[in-house]
Amino acid sequence: MRTLITGGAGFVGSHLCERFLAERHDVVCLDNLITGNPFNIQHLQGNPRFTFVRHNISNHVEIDGPIDNILHFASPASPVDYLRHPIATLKVGSLGTHNTLGLAKAKSARYLLASTSEVYGDPERHPQREDYWGNVNPIGIRGVYDEAKRFAEAMTMAYHRSHGLNTHIVRIFNTYGPRMRLDDGRVVPNLMGQALRGQPLTVFGDGSQTRSFCFVSDLVDGIYRLLNAEFHEPVNLGNPNEVSILDFAKEILQLSSAKSQIEFKPLPQDDPKVRRPDITRARMLLGWEPKVDRHDGMRRTMDYFRGTLAS
Ligand code: UDP
Repeated sequence: MRTLITGGAGFVGSHLCERFLAERHDVVCLDNLITGNPFNIQHLQGNPRFTFVRHNISNHVEIDGPIDNILHFASPASPVDYLRHPIATLKVGSLGTHNTLGLAKAKSARYLLASTSEVYGDPERHPQREDYWGNVNPIGIRGVYDEAKRFAEAMTMAYHRSHGLNTHIVRIFNTYGPRMRLDDGRVVPNLMGQALRGQPLTVFGDGSQTRSFCFVSDLVDGIYRLLNAEFHEPVNLGNPNEVSILDFAKEILQLSSAKSQIEFKPLPQDDPKVRRPDITRARMLLGWEPKVDRHDGMRRTMDYFRGTLAS
């Protein structure tokens, strides 16, 4: 098996590269490194079954030889990153998806699109099931990511329906773990970095908005199972254990024994008020369930950030 992973030097992508290598696949990791980090794949570089290709997948791509699986994970994925790269985000979700689907068609490869809970926008239904169509502001600041991913889903289904391509769509909810960038602006690295530096923890709004955090190894396991399933509609993957951002900040304070205060900052535009996956579909279809408890996952993530800050 030979598997192409776009965005393979990113947070989730690099864990996927590891998993597919462990499953004895040859892995081609493609990344343009705008938000990915070569450090994430440094330890894989000596492996003869691992190849790194530096390329922007929004441009035409040619890969020699057979490819059995394509996982399209390239995209800025944190609100701060996609606000910093709005056009690149729109392009990789649209042109990048088209290019990878075209490659999958040419190689007769299985295809898996990394989509997102952002397709549900600021949801009016809770928890979110896959049959909910969402509440997205197309011209808001998050629209560049949300609409690109919605387009990507539509394009993926069109390739499935028109060309009979064996496609899969995962809607990824908030995920955390080692190899997140400390400066990616998301709540986990932000608050953990602040706690470890003894700085105030920035909670946006009054902190009553909720999220549900999934540890990266659980997510990767679900993705691996989904790729091998015969199912083409979107599947939510995430941890249904929901917490308010204020309580989450308090958990981080407790875990780090930091003496930091909590500092309230303005809530960014279109910040979803609630988010929790309904994972019935993943449970039934994949026999999948997150296993890593939040405290355990947070401890492992904090240890990683401690190491990053010390080096
Ligand atoms: N957030 C926060 N403080 C921060 C960073 C984020 O309170 O320093 C909040 C943010 O407003 C959102 C939640 O934490 O309500 C999760 O934000 P994140 O950027 O991780 O991703 P999102 O789930 O919004 O895509």
